[in-house]
Amino acid sequence: MFFSMLGRICATYILLLLTACSSPKELHDSRFIMGTLVEFTVSDTDRTIAEQAIAEAANEMQRIEDSFTIYGDHPNSVKLFNISAVDHPVSLPDEVSKLLETALAVQQQSGNRFNPALARLNLLWGFSLDPPPNAPPSDLAIRTAIPPSECIKHIAKQWARSDRRCQLDFGGIAKGYAIDRGIDILKKHGIANAIINAGGDMRLIGQHHQQPWKIGIRHPRKAGSVLSSLSLQGDVSIVTSGDYERFFIYQGKQYHHILDPKNGYPARKNQSITVIAPSAMLADAWSTALFVGSPATVPSAIRFLSVSSSGHIVDNLRIKK
Ligand code: ADP
Ligand code: MG
Repeated sequence: MFFSMLGRICATYILLLLTACSSPKELHDSRFIMGTLVEFTVSDTDRTIAEQAIAEAANEMQRIEDSFTIYGDHPNSVKLFNISAVDHPVSLPDEVSKLLETALAVQQQSGNRFNPALARLNLLWGFSLDPPPNAPPSDLAIRTAIPPSECIKHIAKQWARSDRRCQLDFGGIAKGYAIDRGIDILKKHGIANAIINAGGDMRLIGQHHQQPWKIGIRHPRKAGSVLSSLSLQGDVSIVTSGDYERFFIYQGKQYHHILDPKNGYPARKNQSITVIAPSAMLADAWSTALFVGSPATVPSAIRFLSVSSSGHIVDNLRIKK
C-alpha cells in the first residue's frame, strides 16, 4: 500500500525465514515508511555501524516517499505534474524523470499492463485512502478515468501530459526504487550482509551467517503458509504482487488494488506473481505488470513465479533447490 497517508501495516508477501534467535551480530529494525512496515536486517556487522546505516537508509526511503507520493497535502513535483496544463511541458527533477523513463519502458515492454499514469483511476478506486472503499465506483466513472495508453510525452528534457486523465502514480515501482537506494546506503557503510523487506518487496545482499538467506514466498490463499522456500545469496531482488492484501468484498466478489489499464478493473488473471530481477525497482514494476498479464515476450532478466486465479503455479524463477 505504497504512499497511503494513513496506511495499514501490510502482511508480508514474502517472508524472511530467520531462525528464532538472532546472534548478537545481527540487528533488526523496522520503520513505517511508504505505507508499509519496512524491515531492516543487518548481519555480521558492528552494531553502531549497522544502526547508523539503517537510520540513514530509512531517511532516504522516507525522502523518496515524499518525492513521489500522490497522497497528502505536502507538495511535490509529481502532484504538480498531475495538475499541469495539457500539452504544456514541465521540468521534473532528475530522479523523477529517470524513474518515469524506466516506468514508461516497462509500460511499453509489458504492452501497457504496467501503466504509471493511472493516478486518477487509482484514486477513484481508493484502495490507498482512509477509510478504504467498500464498493466499486460506477462503470461510467471507471471508464472516464482510464487514460489513453500513450499520454506522457518527453519533449526536450521536459515532460507533458497529452490528456487530463493522464496522471502519474508511481505506486507500482517506487517502493522497489526506494529499497534499491536503501541498499546502496547500507553498502556505502560497508555492510555486506543485509535485507530490506518492505511488506514483501525485498532485496538481499550477501549471506546470513555464512549461509544463504532463507526466503519464503507466501501462499496467496493460505495466510501464514509458505508456497515455496528459497535459499538466496549475493544480490537478489525479489518482489511479490498479490490480490490478497488490499481488497474488499462487494456482493460476494473480491476487488483488489492492481488494476488492468485496459478496462480499469482489478486484474483477474492471477492470485500472485513473484519476480526476481536485477533491481528491486524492476522487480516491483514487473510483478505489477505480470500480475495484470504476461506479454508475448518478457525481458530475459525478469524471472517469475505465477499463481493463476485457478491456483495453477508456473515457476520460472530458475532457483536451484
Ligand atoms: P504493492 O504496492 O501493494 O506492493 P504493487 O507493487 O503491485 O503492490 O503496486 C500496486 C500499486 O501500483 C497500486 O496501489 C497502484 O498505486 C499502482 N497500480 C495499480 N495498478 C497498476 C498498473 N496496472 N500499473 C502500474 N501501477 C499500478
Ligand atoms: Mg509493483
